Amino acid sequence: MGMTLKDTTKTGDSVFSYQCHACNKCCHGKGIQINPYENMRLSSHLKITTTEFRLNYLNGQLLKHKRNSNACIFLGKNGCTVHKDRPLACRLYPLGRLRMENGKEFFTELMPHTDSAGEYGTASTVDSYLKTQDVKPYLHAERVYLKLIQKMANSAMQEPLSKPKNKDHYETEMELNYTDWILDPNPVIVKYCNLKNSSFPLEIEQQLKLHIEALQAWVDGKWDPISNT
Ligand code: SF4
Repeated sequence: MGMTLKDTTKTGDSVFSYQCHACNKCCHGKGIQINPYENMRLSSHLKITTTEFRLNYLNGQLLKHKRNSNACIFLGKNGCTVHKDRPLACRLYPLGRLRMENGKEFFTELMPHTDSAGEYGTASTVDSYLKTQDVKPYLHAERVYLKLIQKMANSAMQEPLSKPKNKDHYETEMELNYTDWILDPNPVIVKYCNLKNSSFPLEIEQQLKLHIEALQAWVDGKWDPISNT
């Protein structure tokens, strides 16, 4: 979220509690990065595609702000308008997360907005707080994408991931853009479903599974998303 750190020493069992009083101050001035899983959840919430979501709600990988304001594009009069599917960063707040190379995780207490009505306490632990925020599916998605991206990076170093049949193919079909295929799951899932003769799944966890499976098949050289064979 790009904020000042207050404390960098917390672990899951550290004493921590936080009571939000919906002042919405924390929904201003943040750079909230959206991963493919969050895109799937938010676009499904808004009943649009992940491609439309990227076009309308993101600047690069960051959630847009409202015009002439530093408020998040999803902040409404009564708070977050996508609360059920809000991103991981919003669920973690006022905690930030640090992941070390060895996989160890630490939590940071972020500096609150000077006028924040949020109340900090010692009644519970970091883990208990995270449970109330339902972060588990988000952490799972983050892990599986990270693993896949590492695998893709390793494969790309050895040889290009997809072998073009001919140049025209690229100009008429989905562009060979690895980043888009990761960040924009819908077109990849649609292609993969066509290949499998199955319909596009409505459940987000199923969409995640198919997106990962499709990209995995591509990395393993078992599927060419350009020719869809
Ligand atoms: S997505 Fe919702 S909770 Fe997160 S910053 Fe935007 S309005 Fe606030």
